[in-house]
Amino acid sequence: MKKIALHWKIIIGMVLGIIFGFIMNSSDGQEFVADWIAPFGTIFINLLKLIAVPLILASLIKGISDLKDISKIRDMGLRTILIYISTTLVAIIIGLSIVNFVKPGEGMPQDTIEKIKMKYENDAGVTDKLIKASAQKDAGPLQALVDIFPSNIFLAMGEAKMLQIIFFALFVGICLLLIPEEKAKPMVDIFDSLNEVVMKMVDLIMLFAPYAVFALMANVIIAFDDTEILIKLLQYAFCVIGGLILMIGFYLLLIRFFTKKSPLWFLNKISPAQLLAFSTSSSAATLPVTMERVEEHIGVDKEVSGFVLPVGATVNMDGTSLYQGIAAVFIMQVIWPEGLSFTNQLVIVATALLASIGSAAVPSAGMVMLVIVLESIGFPAELLPIGLALIFAVDRPLDMCRTVVNVTGDATVSMVVAKSLGKLHDDPKPKEWDDNYEA
Ligand code: ASP
Repeated sequence: MKKIALHWKIIIGMVLGIIFGFIMNSSDGQEFVADWIAPFGTIFINLLKLIAVPLILASLIKGISDLKDISKIRDMGLRTILIYISTTLVAIIIGLSIVNFVKPGEGMPQDTIEKIKMKYENDAGVTDKLIKASAQKDAGPLQALVDIFPSNIFLAMGEAKMLQIIFFALFVGICLLLIPEEKAKPMVDIFDSLNEVVMKMVDLIMLFAPYAVFALMANVIIAFDDTEILIKLLQYAFCVIGGLILMIGFYLLLIRFFTKKSPLWFLNKISPAQLLAFSTSSSAATLPVTMERVEEHIGVDKEVSGFVLPVGATVNMDGTSLYQGIAAVFIMQVIWPEGLSFTNQLVIVATALLASIGSAAVPSAGMVMLVIVLESIGFPAELLPIGLALIFAVDRPLDMCRTVVNVTGDATVSMVVAKSLGKLHDDPKPKEWDDNYEA
């Protein structure tokens, strides 16, 4: 019997989950989904998060110690950061161009605005974003830098602080290069073996993915309760989705020109990670799968993917910054048109770039950072809850879409960096025992 490729199984799970969610929505079965279906999605996300930390540690320490040359690490770091910043700038410019051209916020009827205000202005979700944003803002200017350096690696691992774990792994990897080889070997071997084990764990967890996305999608659908407001926000949502599609097109061009690989081949290989990004709305939860796809199916060497992908999951969020550009201008078009100056839009470019670095790789983090983007242009504080309320109803679906772009962007950059360092292999060879390998 011909095996169905993994991404098709996930798509089938997703579609069935959406249908099931709608059926449950119309038959008052939301509680059943929340109690008996959604927990399976949570288990799946927990499992992915469980292996993310050991995976980053193992693949980065092993990868760096394989590089054999510290100047190569500096080279890789510089290229990665430079390309990440460039792609994020492209994303913000695409977003701002679309929203200024389409103007989705102009002419929104006053009664619609009132209705949205009444429904969401005091919603717990909106208030939560405002509280988180103010906590983030209260930190000093160099706090983000301080946060990279852990004082306790176990605490960093416990709290899944990606940048701290990356720093520690780089530090260990570099020191392994600096000590005599015979002393380094036992530790490198341990991490190599751990890496293999975790990769196998990804394979096994992915066997559960089609069922898990069923649960995740059903749970997303039962949260949609006001289709009327959703329809009113369609133009805005289409601007974001259109921008995200353009961004994917941009990645495919990068892949074609810089790596000479076929864009369709790339999409085929990376699609399970994209589908999970869509279902979980979290680049951090998707990270183990992104790493597995990129290393074992696309052919990027571990030393590149082990660095570029975890860093990217944390600091490179092109989809999020594109969305922030569009959302900020959309909100201004609706409730603060006097703020729509060219200078303010330039400030948005800068702050959305920083926000992409500062956003956590978890659901709806982009909306928290949007508050900071808006505040940077002097958006009136009393209008903030209304601004967030305006986009709240469609935030989850847009979060799902922008997370796909965040993950695709990281995978693309890992290929480009790997190619530039001669670390992109033409013929990735997954182990014979890899069930998910499609020839
Ligand atoms: N959910 C996004 C991610 O994890 C972040 C965001 O835009 O909210 O990549």
